[in-house]
Amino acid sequence: MLASHRWIRRRLLRSMILAVSFALIASPSVRAQDGDRTGRAPAAVAIAAELSNGGPGITKLTLTLSKPIEARAFVMERPDRAVIDLAEVNFQLGAETGRKREGVVSSFRYGLFAPGRSRIVVDLAQPATVGRIETVTRPRDGAVLLTVEFQRSDREGFKRAAVASDPAPQPRKAMAPVEPMDARPLIMVDAGHGGTDPGAIAATGVFEKDIVFGFAQALVTRLESGGRYRVRMTRDRDVFVPLSERVRIAREAKADLFVSIHADSIQSAPQVRGATIYTGSEKATDAESARLAERENRADAAAGTESNEGPGHVADILQELTLRETRTFSSGFAKGLMTQLGPVMEMSPKPHREAGFMVLRSPDVPSVLVELGYLSSKRDLDLLQSDAWRADVTGGMAKAIDAFFGSRTSLTRPNPPRRSAAIAPVSP
Ligand SMILES: [Zn+2]
Repeated sequence: MLASHRWIRRRLLRSMILAVSFALIASPSVRAQDGDRTGRAPAAVAIAAELSNGGPGITKLTLTLSKPIEARAFVMERPDRAVIDLAEVNFQLGAETGRKREGVVSSFRYGLFAPGRSRIVVDLAQPATVGRIETVTRPRDGAVLLTVEFQRSDREGFKRAAVASDPAPQPRKAMAPVEPMDARPLIMVDAGHGGTDPGAIAATGVFEKDIVFGFAQALVTRLESGGRYRVRMTRDRDVFVPLSERVRIAREAKADLFVSIHADSIQSAPQVRGATIYTGSEKATDAESARLAERENRADAAAGTESNEGPGHVADILQELTLRETRTFSSGFAKGLMTQLGPVMEMSPKPHREAGFMVLRSPDVPSVLVELGYLSSKRDLDLLQSDAWRADVTGGMAKAIDAFFGSRTSLTRPNPPRRSAAIAPVSP
């Protein structure tokens, strides 16, 4: 077994070198992730992912890989989808990959799901169960073909398979270590979406997750350059982080402010433009805000996990009181943000709104969510990708943050209700 593995590895070397050098040319950002940070071996490279007809009621998804990897697959309901969990894969696939329907599969998306783990989320056009998972080596070039079969089934069979697979999400460690000795306020910057969850998609094919990550990085740099704050991100690369995990990271790190960055899209109204600042509330300001919060709250489902907390989850009366007080601070910060952002960017007609966003539910961390603009507006999309615009807007945000902490120093810090709040125990 080992000897034959070595033999295959030798045969593969040539194609792997080709695949890896292609990867480096295609995407410079890949370089930093290729094992150098952790000392791990480079991830397998996927150079193709194709759907094909595997016979009556069967659709196959075949990944072309540089080396064999572990894979497991299961199905989930509402929406109906299959999830393929893999060891970390460096996906080097064409932009159109996964967008075309074939058999029982309507589309699929892929990405890093957690450090060391990648995931493919397959949207099902009709109920189907996971059939065979096979790995074969292609003799012609030694590439490894990993095939997962999906077999059409009835609703009952699908339900049974979904219940049997029931994948409880693994709680994960916060990404950023806490530095208790540093008294500077801690700003948690939350770039929306990531990994298997692309967020909104522009007509040009640009993903919300990439736009907001670039912006979040610029904001972090801006805030760090002033030296007044400690700054952390809920995700520091293109990885999926569940919504409840983002809240947990902020609370566990005892963040003093949580700023979530998103961008919206309304395909049917390309003329709609401008930024909106949201603060959390169980009752939305208007129907449009409620719909947006509902859409953003579906991020976990889009990436193939279930969120474990329902809306309005508040543990006890003390948390309820703390939440109310915290939301006063959140609204105060949102107003300051409006003042600073108004002169540097297009704001929507009603720029401060409230809705039940899951990420705005920390009882003890003032939190806002900024929808920077619309990917569906050509003008907004251009600006979202402009360095000059980004510098202006991150500058405005930094000023608003300065003002917020400037005014808060007049309050007793640490803020008594906030620190005495019972922080729910967090499992490792
Ligand atoms: Zn979003």
